[in-house]
Amino acid sequence: MSDSIFTKIIKREIPSEIVFEDDEIIAFNDIAPKAPIHILIVPKKQIPTLNNATENDAELLGKLLLTCSKIAKMKGIDERGYRVVINCNEEACQTVFHIHFHLIGGKQLGWSPD
Ligand code: AMP
Repeated sequence: MSDSIFTKIIKREIPSEIVFEDDEIIAFNDIAPKAPIHILIVPKKQIPTLNNATENDAELLGKLLLTCSKIAKMKGIDERGYRVVINCNEEACQTVFHIHFHLIGGKQLGWSPD
């Protein structure tokens, strides 16, 4: 599998604004934010889509979700509210085929899939 753009960020081959990193996970600001806070939470393991995650990835997926809530707290939006999104494949508008959670907040969000 060739390196995704997010793997290139992990390897520091392209720049990004990193807000969190540990052995398994990196989080950085989205380059085209949809809200005042729009952070991507990404496993260092390159899993293309949610469909490709297996039982072996269950703990990692849990850690990714918990990292979303930790970063929401770090950014001071945990009590106000925020959204966590995974886009999977074409009709959900997935563009980077390296699984990632979008953490979106910092304003009143609407509720529409459009
Ligand atoms: P998705 O459409 O769910 O695959 O989300 C991919 C996200 O990656 C989009 O919100 C893009 O704006 C974002 N993105 C693409 N390239 C970069 C980059 N180099 N640095 C940060 N975010 C990026």
